[in-house]
Amino acid sequence: MAKIFAVNAGSSSLKFQLFDMPEEKVITKGLIERIGLKDSVFTMSVGTDRHKETKDVPNHEEAVALLLDRLISLGVIQSLNEIEGVGHRVVHGGEVFSDSALIDQDTLKKIEDLSELAPLHNPANVTGIKEFQKALPDVPHVAVFDTAFHQTMPENSFLYSLPYEYYKEYGIRKYGFHGTSHKYVSERAAELLERPLSQLRLISCHLGNGASIAAIKNGKSLDTSMGFTPLAGVTMGTRSGNIDPALIPYLMEKTGKTADEVIDVLNKKSGMLGVSGFSSDLRDIEMEANSGNHRAELALHIFADRIHKYLGSYAARMSGVDAIIFTAGIGENSASIRAKVLNGLEFMGVYWDPDLNKIRGQEVFVNYPHSPVKVIVIPTNEEIMIARDVVRLSK
Ligand code: ADP
Repeated sequence: MAKIFAVNAGSSSLKFQLFDMPEEKVITKGLIERIGLKDSVFTMSVGTDRHKETKDVPNHEEAVALLLDRLISLGVIQSLNEIEGVGHRVVHGGEVFSDSALIDQDTLKKIEDLSELAPLHNPANVTGIKEFQKALPDVPHVAVFDTAFHQTMPENSFLYSLPYEYYKEYGIRKYGFHGTSHKYVSERAAELLERPLSQLRLISCHLGNGASIAAIKNGKSLDTSMGFTPLAGVTMGTRSGNIDPALIPYLMEKTGKTADEVIDVLNKKSGMLGVSGFSSDLRDIEMEANSGNHRAELALHIFADRIHKYLGSYAARMSGVDAIIFTAGIGENSASIRAKVLNGLEFMGVYWDPDLNKIRGQEVFVNYPHSPVKVIVIPTNEEIMIARDVVRLSK
């Protein structure tokens, strides 16, 4: 049995899961938060318990050292030699990576070069890779890209209607994100439907703090709602999703903000937070909406409407749809958002059962048995996809 790490290094956090493969059993999982700040917080599952400690973790090097030390001192593993590979989530693989990749000097250089396309994410991912490589130099390290699954999109999906040379010169195109999640749920949907993925038309709705919709035809991403960056597409927790681009200079003029500051508003102060005025968290918004707060109701409506419209659009794009999938924090848990999104889709063959729709956080068919289009809730599992790719690529 091989122990494989799946890690996700952000600028101030490090999330991890350790698997026994090929059994896919989770040995431990956890998170180090507030790296580089005072009072960093380390949490890790130890058997059925949860270890939590607060101490200053000044950088990722010390975060990795702390994690590896506690794995042994808390008896989760006996020796670091048991770890046989590490998979790293990397946000942007550009057009260079259409699949996960074993990390050598050349791969690492390419990921660093792609930082231009993802300045907030790739540098942190690279730091994570380097620190884990230093700590575990003798095992394979594999990069798993958020964009890779969407590299199958055809030109007519990924090109913007801009002067064509901008694509050639600057790489301006739709890349799409959440690819690992869309891939996982599409594969799982095929298993649950007991039909070959190569014959299915699926629409996958990944609805978390970030949200994206994907049209997946015959197992391949055909189109997706996020774009050149994860700011595009549907309304999200704090991100605006699609807006008229002419608003940016208009807002700059009206508010005196720079372009970067306006983009910051679109990324961090818009979406359901902007509309509701008090929270980006769906649970807070649902609670307020239930007590009659109009702006909270409006935030829910706008969020659901945008997703609803993508369902129609992607069904048209694939000349029909066999199943609609809901995943991630909101997709897995919020019956009311799923209901709003699905309402009125009988015209395209979607018939769903309000009682089944109440079930949350587990795999469940929400459609009536006779519904031509199936509706499936599937909890996502990006970590297992990362661990599987480590096993596949390090053979
Ligand atoms: P991230 O994109 O950060 O991974 P998640 O997938 O964890 O986000 O999703 C976070 C969102 O899921 C939040 O808006 C949260 O309110 C929502 N959520 C989580 N649990 C529930 C629940 N039980 N009911 C409704 N919404 C939920």
